[in-house]
Amino acid sequence: MKILLASNNKHKAEEIKHILDEILPNQIELILPKQISESPIDPEETGVNLGENAEIKAKAFFDEYKIICIADDTGLEIEALDMAPGVNSARFSGVHGNDKANRSKVLDLLSNKPNRKARFRCVFCFYDGKIQHFSEGICNGRIIEEERGEMGFGYDSIFIPDGFELTFAEMDSKEKNAISHRYKATLNLADFLKDYIINSTQTED
Ligand code: IMP
Repeated sequence: MKILLASNNKHKAEEIKHILDEILPNQIELILPKQISESPIDPEETGVNLGENAEIKAKAFFDEYKIICIADDTGLEIEALDMAPGVNSARFSGVHGNDKANRSKVLDLLSNKPNRKARFRCVFCFYDGKIQHFSEGICNGRIIEEERGEMGFGYDSIFIPDGFELTFAEMDSKEKNAISHRYKATLNLADFLKDYIINSTQTED
């Protein structure tokens, strides 16, 4: 079954593809927008939460390309900041994609706060023109006082997942991917897809 991932992040696509291949071997061909269009659409993420943004992207890509779609949105949710930056994670400092400034803003806001609890949450939206399904994955942890580690991206260097002493940026991608929010969300998505494929095959028979 061909599924379009509404993202142009190759790294993300490989991670998701790897997990889906393990659970549903040879059943899903995951394609990226760049493979079907030279200048793919880039819908504005105007949702007020992660699920809404994932839904906006999945529906926009389905409407445009008429291929079954999955889209994801991820955010860092910090208890002491009323679950911010959440849906604004990529643009928390005001400049979209400025990871360094985003991390500094989080550290500043938490500087006198004893509660450092935080979590990454990833939400997938599946959409085939009729059926819409959400899958979620959460990785609980805490925000440290200073950045640590060189690997990863985004908020990785200030986040330590529960049960570990290393930040995500001190783990190699294999270690991080085995416990991450995206991993857990993809496992849940794979569970849904397993049933979806069985049902679609039965409907075709
Ligand atoms: P996206 O929805 O995957 O584009 O993620 C939105 C923002 O959340 C990114 O710009 C990053 O700042 C942050 N983010 C998402 N996933 C991760 C992660 O695995 N580690 C650290 N930061 C992340």
